[in-house]
Amino acid sequence: KGPDPDLVAISERMATVKHKILVLSGKGGVGKSTFSAQLSFALAGMDHQVGLLDIDICGPSIPKMLGLEGQDIHQSNLGWSPIYLESNLGVMSIGFMLPHPDEAVIWRGPRKNGLIKQFLKDVHWGELDYLVVDAPPGTSDEHISIVQFLLASGIDGAIIVTTPQQVSLIDVRKEISFCKKVGLPILGVVENMSGLMLPISDVGFAKLSESGEEEDVTEWALNYMKTHAPEMLTLFVRKEVFDSSGGGAARMCSEMGVPFLGKVPMDPQLCKAAEEGRSCFTDKKCIASAPALRRIIEKL
Ligand code: ADP
Repeated sequence: KGPDPDLVAISERMATVKHKILVLSGKGGVGKSTFSAQLSFALAGMDHQVGLLDIDICGPSIPKMLGLEGQDIHQSNLGWSPIYLESNLGVMSIGFMLPHPDEAVIWRGPRKNGLIKQFLKDVHWGELDYLVVDAPPGTSDEHISIVQFLLASGIDGAIIVTTPQQVSLIDVRKEISFCKKVGLPILGVVENMSGLMLPISDVGFAKLSESGEEEDVTEWALNYMKTHAPEMLTLFVRKEVFDSSGGGAARMCSEMGVPFLGKVPMDPQLCKAAEEGRSCFTDKKCIASAPALRRIIEKL
């Protein structure tokens, strides 16, 4: 029996891609797509030629996070053409193929695998420095096939995104075991939503009466600070939101012998940038999250 023709076709397609990075998470909602999107913006901002491939078949959020909702993809004789946000940032997502954004994709394993295979085989990326692949959460059948296909064409490794609390880390441990089992190198783990970080000038202040009545005293509080302690207005409010008493992702990484890449705080401005399909790196308001993301990306 000769080599699998799909694997050969994927390897040929991937031959023009220098680096391939798979972004994984144990659970949904931890910021995997946000990280994939911002990683792609950052790499494109460094003048690399970047492709972002969204194979989160059940919840493709990449079109929205790159401000590309409602776009259609086109096919040429070279294959499916990615949608270009910049000349050096191409995007391909299952989201572009759904007739309506509210449509649910309820496909069984083989059909999902078929689509993923087709994505890897038929998208015409051209020469790329980086292909960032946003995978579905978990360690299902799709993951095995993606990893199998990407390993055959030489993948750099996986970045795993998590939040700090145990319920999320338990799933990450499974994700790490999965990577080890299938021989996928782990580039590192990112702890996202690692505490809330807000400029004090952005928060509201309230007075609560005993009966729970809320009085907005923001203006009074900010004026009071301005007059009595103006340097306070340059401070940030910092609060752990999720329980990290177990040492968070950093401890788990040292226990499991995988690299810890760093922490990204919960930053409403990052969420806003993602909602509006923008890069946080060109947004002065993302002061809490953009430098943290940049430090992580520089380690890769
Ligand atoms: P996943 O891909 O893991 O399901 P998403 O990237 O879709 O998660 O993120 C879930 C939600 O949380 C999105 O609305 C996103 O904008 C928001 N989010 C992600 N990371 C942060 C962060 N560090 N600060 C604030 N909001 C965030």
